[in-house]
Amino acid sequence: MINKSALNIITEFLKPFHTSLIAVTKAHPVEVLQEAYDFGLNVFGENKVQELVAKAEVLPKDIQWHLIGHLQSNKVKYIAPFIHMIHSVDSFKLLQEINKEAKKNDRIIRCLLQVYIANEDTKFGLDQKELLAILTHPELEQLEHIQIKGLMGMATNTNDKAQIRKEFHGLRELFHTLSRTITKKNIQWSEISMGMTSDYEIAAEEGSTMVRIGSAIFGSR
Ligand SMILES: *Cc1c(COP(=O)(O)O)cnc(C)c1O
Repeated sequence: MINKSALNIITEFLKPFHTSLIAVTKAHPVEVLQEAYDFGLNVFGENKVQELVAKAEVLPKDIQWHLIGHLQSNKVKYIAPFIHMIHSVDSFKLLQEINKEAKKNDRIIRCLLQVYIANEDTKFGLDQKELLAILTHPELEQLEHIQIKGLMGMATNTNDKAQIRKEFHGLRELFHTLSRTITKKNIQWSEISMGMTSDYEIAAEEGSTMVRIGSAIFGSR
């Protein structure tokens, strides 16, 4: 069951910000995704490769699949034929692997670099030094089958709204600095993926271009 009134509230809220919605369907069965699709949603986010692939196999082919969870290099091959965007890139080695598999499939795969912005130890992501090392890597431009589209980040899991706003604001500032200073053939600075059920309003206000929302639409997992 999808919560249509919540979905309505979210889409209305996002409209003036031109922020797009990724419906996070992890841990929900394909029947729920089919219902969401029939209701008009076709941009889905999953955090596990196996689950994403299994769902993509049985659902309509015009769904845009976003991988939002940690990705191991040895699993890239399973999603490379069809994935729309990978939000969780956190190493140059992973970019090389994505490039290799994208090439085999004659595709260019959109990637976001996941940046660590939270004030806790539990979240994946690059610190600024690691991020810059990837963006200035001498071999980056040789990866012709990837397209870096921007950054992804997750705020601290806290009720402190000022803290969350500060973290999202920092990610947006970082994005702006990079977009003014780093120009490469396979980078197009267009997306900031930030915001989930608990903090999407703040994220949109701070310049998010895509929010990833699960439980508000599909209930708790
Ligand atoms: C699960 C998940 C979300 C969605 O979380 P909700 O609180 O259910 O909206 C967003 N981003 C990532 C990376 C996730 O793993």
